[in-house]
Parts: sequence; structure tokens; C-alpha cells
Amino acid sequence: MKKLRPPRPELENIAAYDAKDVRADVRLSANENPHNLPGEILDKLADRVRGDIDFNRYPDPMSTHLRTLIAEANGLEPSNVLVGNGGDELILDIVLGWGGPGRVLVDMPPTFSMYGIDARMTGTNVIEVPRLADFSVDGELLMDVVRERDPDIIVVSNPNNPTGTMVPETLLIDLLKATDALVLVDEAYFEFSRQTMRPHMERHHNLVILRTFSKAFSLAGLRAGYLLAHEDVVRELTKVRQPYSVNRFTQAAAALTFRERMVFEAGIREAMRNRDRLLHGLSAITGVEVFPSEANFVLFRVAHASAVWRDLLHDHSVLVRDFSRTPGLEDCLRVTVGSDEEIERFLKAMDEIMAGKRAADHFGMSASATGRVRKAGE
Ligand code: PMP
Repeated sequence: MKKLRPPRPELENIAAYDAKDVRADVRLSANENPHNLPGEILDKLADRVRGDIDFNRYPDPMSTHLRTLIAEANGLEPSNVLVGNGGDELILDIVLGWGGPGRVLVDMPPTFSMYGIDARMTGTNVIEVPRLADFSVDGELLMDVVRERDPDIIVVSNPNNPTGTMVPETLLIDLLKATDALVLVDEAYFEFSRQTMRPHMERHHNLVILRTFSKAFSLAGLRAGYLLAHEDVVRELTKVRQPYSVNRFTQAAAALTFRERMVFEAGIREAMRNRDRLLHGLSAITGVEVFPSEANFVLFRVAHASAVWRDLLHDHSVLVRDFSRTPGLEDCLRVTVGSDEEIERFLKAMDEIMAGKRAADHFGMSASATGRVRKAGE
């Protein structure tokens, strides 16, 4: 039998995106909406399924109906909108279209890891502009890099996942003025920050805005995202995209959801209230440092973060995201803003875990992060 020849050499230095899909009662690790689609939308969707979705036919490649709704809501033409199989697919399309060997993408870590993964996978050079200690973007360094390295793609997650930080609008405008690179402003959490670069699209044809149905709109399981861009950008991206990536069912569900999006306002307001509860609740716990957030998640720093993560999961069945091995995020965990009950359970669990740690420290014992106090060396 012949051996398998190795894949492209680039893959050697790429770690697969690890979604850490672990079972837990309280799932606060992926920034999803804690609530499923509202019953009224599910009912309408069920009617559509029974009525007029031809599952035997390929879907409309351009999601024309959904695209038109999105365009209207944003004061744009359908030719300015591209729908994808989640924002993830559109990020890859951008890197396929504007990146590649010999081309350069500017990334601002710590940030959403898919930008760097897609760039490396396509042989695109990555220049990192590390964020400052408070996770703000180093504007001076960014402008130096733009001047000296003449990048092809610049990606800004705004708000930034996983830190929750916003980039000042003035810095983004300066950036757009300084470069003809494709500037991707990833507004996956726009419904929570309520801040957008949309008004700058007319003046800056290199500005691309990314949004998703996975967060505020409860559709993470169906995979739908969209970008807003100049029609030239959309036209080029249709050359690299998979034509049938957004299936008929997803197109129907996303269109219904988008049309009824006012229904989600209450959930968004609940998320903002619970974000404040999380910020206050966590900052009241001794030993926890919390970072402000404009999104539906909160990043916090705690000693022995991996042990805290483990105790949350094993002793309380609460799943959060462990970033403690990510450069710049040492000892950091990220918790998604869940429902009222989920937030209560998480905060109570954190209280108990940290009280156990303090008790262990007080008695000079080493402890796991939990209340289970262990003698040193045990
Ligand atoms: N951008 C950012 C900043 C994200 O956090 C995510 C999801 N984690 C995405 C894009 C992609 O979202 P989706 O593919 O679910 O639309």
C-alpha cells in the first residue's frame, strides 16, 4: 500500500479551530443567544417548510430575497450585500480574494482566531499589531505598519472578540484614509454595541462590514452571516465563494428572522442588563479582574484560570471559554452573557470557587480552584 503524501506545508503550523464542544448544563462558551428562536418565528418557519421550500432543488446562490431585505434595512442596494454560511465563510472568501502568497494581512491579537487561521491556510503573510495592555489597538504602530508594509487586508473585530473592546471611530477613519487595503470591520456583535461603520461606506470603497445571525438572532445552528461592501468587492468575492453554501432552509429562516428582528430587542436588552450584572458580580469577587465589554460576553482574569475553568465545568456544570494559553490573555476566561438563571448560576459558582481558593490560601494549603481544600503535596 502506498503511503499518503503530506498536505500543503502551510498546514504544519496551523492548529484547527477548537470549538471546545463540551457537554454542560450551562453553556456560556460560544457567545450564542441563550434563547432559541421565538415560538412565533418557529411556527412561521414550520408553515414555510410544509408550504414552499423545495428541498429537492439547489438554493438560490445569492440568497436574493434575504439579500434584498438586508440591503433595504441598511440603505444599500442588493449588489452591496453578500450572504454566507456564517461570517466564517465570508472571512475566508475575503482572504481568498484579497490574500494569498505574496500578500499581507494585518491582524490585531488577541482577537478572533479565524483571521489568522484563514490567512495562514492560504499562504497569506500575517503581520500582527499586538493590542496594548488594556486591549485597545496601538494606533501609532498600526499606522506605521500600514505605511511601511503596504498590507492588502486589515481586519478589526469591533467589538473585539474575546476582549469586548471597541476601536475609536476616529482611528478607523484615519486607517481608511491611509490605505487602499480592504479594511474588514467585523461587527459580529453590532446588535449589542449598537455602533457601526456603515455611514462611512459611501466615502470609503475599501470598507467591508461583517455581521452575523449567530449572536443576537439565535441562528448559530443554521449558519448565516452577511457582509456590506462596495459592489466591486461583492462582485470579486462571488468568484471565490462556494455557490450553494447557504441552503434553502437557512435562507428562509434567516429572512423570516430578519423581517421579524424587532422581536429580538427584548433579548438584546436582557443581554445588556445581564452584561452589567456580570461586570458588577465578577468585580465584587476578590481575586477577579474584569474587563469592560461592548458585546454579549465578558473577559476576566483570575489566578489559576485553567483550574477555575475546570472547577466551573466539573463541579457546577458551567462551561466558559478558557483563553489562558492564548498569548496576551494569560489567566483569562471569557463568559457569554446568558439568561438570568444562567448568570445567577455562574456567579454563584464563581463565588464558591474563589471562596474555596481564599480558604486554602489562608490555611497555607494548595488547593484546586474549588472549595475542595487539599494539603500541599497531596
Ligand atoms: N466574527 C467574530 C468576531 C466572531 O466572534 C464570530 C463567531 N465566533 C464570527 C465572526 C463568525 O460567526 P458566524 O460564522 O457564526 O457567523
